This record gives sequence, structure tokens and C-alpha cells, in this order.
Amino acid sequence: MENNVYYLIKKKKFQLLRNDLDILPPNYVRVQFLYCGICGGDYSCFLGRRTSYPYSLGHEFVATVIDAGKNVTEFSKGDYVISDFNYRCQKCPYCLTGKEHLCIHNDAGYFTNRAFAQYADMHKNYLYNVNSIKNVVRCTLVEPLSCVIHAYNEILQVFNPNCILIVGLGNIGMLFTFYLKSVLKLKSVFVHDVIPEKERRIIELFECTAMDLDNSEKYDLIIDATNSITGAHFCLNIASYAQRYCMMSHLYGLDTSFIYEMICQKEIHPLFPLRNGNRENILLAIQIIHKHWKASYDKTIEVFPISKIQQVFNDKRNLVSNKQVLAINCENDSI
Ligand SMILES: [Zn+2]
Ligand SMILES: [Zn+2]
Repeated sequence: MENNVYYLIKKKKFQLLRNDLDILPPNYVRVQFLYCGICGGDYSCFLGRRTSYPYSLGHEFVATVIDAGKNVTEFSKGDYVISDFNYRCQKCPYCLTGKEHLCIHNDAGYFTNRAFAQYADMHKNYLYNVNSIKNVVRCTLVEPLSCVIHAYNEILQVFNPNCILIVGLGNIGMLFTFYLKSVLKLKSVFVHDVIPEKERRIIELFECTAMDLDNSEKYDLIIDATNSITGAHFCLNIASYAQRYCMMSHLYGLDTSFIYEMICQKEIHPLFPLRNGNRENILLAIQIIHKHWKASYDKTIEVFPISKIQQVFNDKRNLVSNKQVLAINCENDSI
């Protein structure tokens, strides 16, 4: 079957290439992509950090099942599904001890391509049913929310924060604010973004407070969701001695040596959560979006046609929306 995929063919350059689909293997599901959010990890690959080419991107997707292999009983035609493209073998020491996101087969790659594409075939173990979420675009929030849930669970293993500062209000910073304020109902959540409009929107929607630097020692946790070197520098610079710092950015391939120095010099307690933990976090994220996401929160999301993929990535740093989503096989936005 004909399949067109946007591949990153070199640093900062997408190209639409054919990757036709073969006969569907027995444990695989064929999906048609509808929407896919842009993750900080995608953006970091786009910038040329840790990438070989050609490379397909996009994992915050929602898709419909169009065919299922003969061993697949869990999904059927017409189901809405999402994934995180993290393989969980259920047999390795990590899978067996509640750390499935560290599965030694995590990058097994049992799929034809990621989601900035028309279609893909992927192993059924990657997929989760999201039929309960009635608004299809909101399904793209599930995977990044599962990363937020995992990160906060890791923080809670260490201590129970009272006053939290979130820096960077893109996809992850926005969902962190949503989770802490609208789901966990925490009182003291402060936020900051270099783009005032992004910050204003989050303060209004989630009833949190603008960062106050006069007494930054009151924050017992700084969450760095800036996905940038300057953001990391900013956070570590305002951090007090012995403060706790949770880094959500993807800074592979950049000069991050200052992070080590600043952490040591101030005896900062760092936390670098990876991926999204066990599959329960995804199931929980599905329930949370279904139950707690309000229509007004949709203002944080901006949808672009997939044909604009190059431009959206080029402009990403300056966009005033908190989350960017590409529309793939919807109405006029087909590839
Ligand atoms: Zn991601
Ligand atoms: Zn495993």
C-alpha cells in the first residue's frame, strides 16, 4: 500500500518520501494517522542533536485502526489509538521490576515509521485504545502527560514539594501545570515563559501565579521544561543552594558541562526523568484527559496542516501557542 512519510533527511530539513507498506504481519496493526503533536524530543532531533538520517519523527499521535493482523484481538477497525513508541518486552529485568520505560528492548523498532506520515504498521504492544476521549486532537496530550506523571512520581519518591516553579510553558510545561493544578490541586505553583502570551494564557487557564524572583528560595522545586541551554542556565542561575531541580529538556549533543558545574557548586539536587515509566502511566493519562481536560484548555493547542511541517519546526521557538499539533489525514489536510 502506498505510504508517504515526512523524513528528516538532514539537520533542519524534512522531505516527503515513499515508504510503502507490505503485507501486515500477524501481530501488527495498520493505522492511519490523524493528528500528531510535536515533542521537545522531535524538535531536538530536528536541530540535529543525536540523529542519523533519514529519520522519521512524531510519537504524540492519534490514529485510527484500518487493519489488524490475524493474531490481534485487542484492536479492531475504526478504533482510535495512541502510542509512545516505547517497546516493553515484559521479560527483561527492568520490565519485571516496574521500570518498563528502561526496557532493554526499548528501541526494538517494531514499526515501519513514526507518525508524521499517512500510515504505519506497528506491533500491537505499542498501542493503547483512546476511544473514551471524545475529542480526537486531545488524544495527542496523552503521551506527553504520561511523561509528566512519570516525572512527578519520581519527584515524590524523593520528597513532597510545597512550592513549585515551572519554567518553560510549551507542551511539557503546560501539561505539568495542568497536572499539578487541575488534577492534583496543588496550591503553590508558579510559572514562567520568555514569551509573555504563553505565560499569560497558562496563568489564566490553570489559576497559577507568575514567577516572582524576589525570593526565589521559596521554591522547593524548579521544573525546567525550557528544552534549551539558555533555559537550563536560567533555572540553575536562579536556583538557591540545595534546591531541587527537575530537568525535562532534551539537550543531547550540546555543551551541557555548565549544568554539572552549577549543580555541584550550589549542591543542587537534580532529577533527570527519562520517558514515561510503566504503561499504567499512559492508561492514567488517558483517564485524566477524559475526566479533567476542559474545553477552555484547548486554547493552548494550535493545529497546523502537515504540509506546513517544515515551517512549523522552523518557527517553533517563536510560536505563541503552548502546544503545536499537525493535522494529517483530516478534512483538507491530507498528505
Ligand atoms: Zn515525547
Ligand atoms: Zn523489557
